[in-house]
Amino acid sequence: MCKSCDQKSERLTRDGKSRRDFLRSGTIAAAAATPLAASVMNGSASAQTSGPADLSASNVQAWAAFDENGSFAPHTIPRRAAGAKDVVIDIMYSSICHSDIHTYKGDWGPANFPLVPGHEIVGRVVGVGADVVKFREGDIAGVGTIVDSCGECMNCKADREQNCLNGTTFTYGSPDKHLGGVTYGGYSKKIVVDEDYVLRIPPGMDLAGVAPMLCAGITTFSPIVHWDLKPGERFGVIGMGGLGHLAVKFAAAKGAEVVVFTTSEDKLEDAKAFGAKEAYLWSDEQAMASQMASFDLMLATVPVAFQMQQFLSMLKLDKTLVNVGALFPIEGAHGMMMGFGRQSLAGSMTGGIAETQRVIDFAERHGISAEYELITPDQIGEACKKVVNKQARYRYVIDMTSA
Ligand SMILES: [Zn+2]
Ligand SMILES: [Zn+2]
Repeated sequence: MCKSCDQKSERLTRDGKSRRDFLRSGTIAAAAATPLAASVMNGSASAQTSGPADLSASNVQAWAAFDENGSFAPHTIPRRAAGAKDVVIDIMYSSICHSDIHTYKGDWGPANFPLVPGHEIVGRVVGVGADVVKFREGDIAGVGTIVDSCGECMNCKADREQNCLNGTTFTYGSPDKHLGGVTYGGYSKKIVVDEDYVLRIPPGMDLAGVAPMLCAGITTFSPIVHWDLKPGERFGVIGMGGLGHLAVKFAAAKGAEVVVFTTSEDKLEDAKAFGAKEAYLWSDEQAMASQMASFDLMLATVPVAFQMQQFLSMLKLDKTLVNVGALFPIEGAHGMMMGFGRQSLAGSMTGGIAETQRVIDFAERHGISAEYELITPDQIGEACKKVVNKQARYRYVIDMTSA
């Protein structure tokens, strides 16, 4: 791990900078990411900009789910005219998150169809409003899970826009304050977002590999930071898919001793290649029993409900298991057993904008990319089915430049 980098990033959030100052601090980094520099560093990016910026409202090509079975088809959606603080982004890459699937299946409540998911978005800035300070045309930019919040409540002021007390506007499926209806996500060719909710992508990063950082990355990085995982500590990752494989890479980069629990035998070797010291199958009862009372922190990334107590019992005294995957009623946690070890079961969901920038910068410093397979938009439905069937290795990234 790079201690100086970590110390530097710690100061970033603890030096009392206001949220606004932090966001504006990106101006210098953005200036370095000129179109030419980006095109040289990012092989697939083009140095060409699209000529005079078009800030007017537009109808945009998108791919929408039309029912809970995930039947995707081309669809046209409106994007608003860019306001003074808005950034217009031509989407290059958008990856498939399990949340997209939960949403169209109605796992968290009925979906609004047609649904245009996608909250792991990377693209090129093609227009900026008059008051935008963080971006200029030609920059590479990212959009994650959040596109707006009130900016005034105590949670927003604490850089916790995902927990806005007046209602976070999520990237898709949230009420759209500008156009009415609901927001549309990254399975589309273009998006218009307030610059305060747009992320800087440093030049030189693999743009398809950075897209999953915008949700999977921040979702796993935020608990690692909040629970202050330290070098040498034992860190358990339960489930190694899109989220879990990034958790392994982040924790290994921080110098933790990472142990993976998976149900897929072929992932055991992958886990070690990503930096895990050990990897076990849940079905290996002997191995599971050998892990009791040995972890300083655990992260559950499995996207379905499962019996938690077997893993809670693997924590040392007073330690925490953070659930980020199974956003459903928790099964199998036992009060007496948790009391005996004074263990905690915690929840966490995505992260704020400043922290999302931090995970991108951390990934850049440590050379971390998501493992991914590029697909074309007409393969979205098929790819979603593979995600559900645990066939993704480890993220499907839609190449929007191919459409
Ligand atoms: Zn708020
Ligand atoms: Zn997601």
